[in-house]
Amino acid sequence: MKKVIIIGGGAAGLGAAYKIRRAAAAGHDIDCVLIEKDDRLGGKLMSEIVPDPDGGEYVIDGGSDAFVSTKPAVARIARMLGIGDEMVPAREENKKTLIVKRGRLVELPDGIMMFAPTKLMPLATTSLYSWPGKFRMALDWFLPRKERWAEGETAQQHDETLESFVVRRMGREALDRVAEPLVGGVHASDPAQMSLAATFPNFLEMEQEFGSLVRGFLNERKKREEMKKKFPPKPGAKPWAFFNTFHRGMQDLTDAMADAVGRERIITGAAATIIERTGDTWRVTLGTGEVIEGDALIVATEAWAATRLMRDVDSAIAGLLGEIPCSSSATVSMAFRAEDCPFDQKWFGILSPLVEDRPLLAVTLSSAKWPDRAPEGRVLLRGFIGGPQNQHLLEAPDEELVETVRLQLVDLLKVRPDVEPIFTRVYRWSGGMPQYTIGHLDRVDEIERRTSEVSGLALAGGAFRGVGIPNCIESGERAADKVLGELDISYVEETPPPRGR
Ligand SMILES: Cc1cc2nc3c(=O)[nH]c(=O)nc-3n(C[C@H](O)[C@H](O)[C@H](O)COP(=O)(O)OP(=O)(O)OC[C@H]3O[C@@H](n4cnc5c(N)ncnc54)[C@H](O)[C@@H]3O)c2cc1C
Repeated sequence: MKKVIIIGGGAAGLGAAYKIRRAAAAGHDIDCVLIEKDDRLGGKLMSEIVPDPDGGEYVIDGGSDAFVSTKPAVARIARMLGIGDEMVPAREENKKTLIVKRGRLVELPDGIMMFAPTKLMPLATTSLYSWPGKFRMALDWFLPRKERWAEGETAQQHDETLESFVVRRMGREALDRVAEPLVGGVHASDPAQMSLAATFPNFLEMEQEFGSLVRGFLNERKKREEMKKKFPPKPGAKPWAFFNTFHRGMQDLTDAMADAVGRERIITGAAATIIERTGDTWRVTLGTGEVIEGDALIVATEAWAATRLMRDVDSAIAGLLGEIPCSSSATVSMAFRAEDCPFDQKWFGILSPLVEDRPLLAVTLSSAKWPDRAPEGRVLLRGFIGGPQNQHLLEAPDEELVETVRLQLVDLLKVRPDVEPIFTRVYRWSGGMPQYTIGHLDRVDEIERRTSEVSGLALAGGAFRGVGIPNCIESGERAADKVLGELDISYVEETPPPRGR
């Protein structure tokens, strides 16, 4: 029986382990062992259930709180695991984003797709942008392309930062007011460093195809509307939403994957410290002193952890991994009684642009965005702190982070200043967000090229081709495919047809 060692128990590592177990269930002579340094599994998927003193409970996500339905991997895996019914769409009736502007909250105008306006009247009437800012955005319609790509070229050959791209197409205000907090915020990235080719290549492609982002997004909107007409929701089906979660939080997913892998194959609370290879055998030494041997190895940790682990295996790969910077962040959840929150509670989130210079990047109104996150009459809020420009804020102790968020909620939402939250929770994610800086895809290509030359070794995780949970699961599955193939195991799964067909 061949054995694959997997280091890292986040979405990617569990995605890899679950795929290997599916190959075993299909009759292949293969097994796996997964090593996780923390006492719990899930990595950045971390949910906690907190009771309310008066009854009922809160469901809190400390890290990732949603997956997008446009990427099918999570739904596919959830159905395989038998937890498809636990998937919960966001409450679309409350879908609204507020942006902080000079201390006030302004609604993101209807028709803004990412950062491009596609509806005239909402753009004309919003106070989010100045009139010169609006005219500058409209210039996108007329500005020529920066350059024409040669036949066969892709965004990767024409990488550009988010800042450079948005400023040249739509002006500084479009960047500062929406693109930075919304688009940069997805990756908790610095727009002056963030690679568009690695994150949103479609922006660069739109410029090529349509000569204008507004025209590109208008075309996308038209296509979406046509799809909606063509595939109307089936009677009785759950409503479609862009953002989704699980009934008891995102960790439901990793817990179900861990159960399917088999808890007896998982070691928690023990870090892999040394990797060695002798002939065809991989040896992983744990912090506990235990040594695990296997026929293949998948490293599915954060980039900085993989850098350390890979040093003795392949210094060139380790060097390239070390070029992927990672930023830290924290989420701070707190609950209040509804009567202490005298604000409209029909919105998903607040974005605070960096130009506002606040010690908080975003707020999610979890009790409005999701069903059953808080008992009746309670309000659950989650503040987001950190990102590349605000790393210093994370040096503060937990109590200070809580107070920072509470004071921002008092200031922005008029939460009663004299009341203490019912409870608070702080979750820190040190080096938790890989930064896809300019040239990221070239680095990843080179990492993959070098890894392809090492039989029985694969890397997986959010550091490479997408930080979203679906991307991470798929990256784990690709890593499993690589090592299975190299162990002469040919296991092919049929992908179910997309929904609506
Ligand atoms: C605050 C926050 C909010 C986010 N929100 C969203 C969201 O809403 N939607 C979305 O799609 N994505 C979101 N993301 C991104 C997404 O959650 C992550 O990209 C994804 O979960 C990463 O999965 P992973 O398996 O690659 O890595 P991780 O989850 O980081 O897992 C890596 C694991 O490796 C373990 N490890 C490290 N070193 C060792 C070692 N030496 N030995 C053994 N184990 C080791 C770690 O303890 C960790 O458990 C968010 C991320 C953060 C930080």
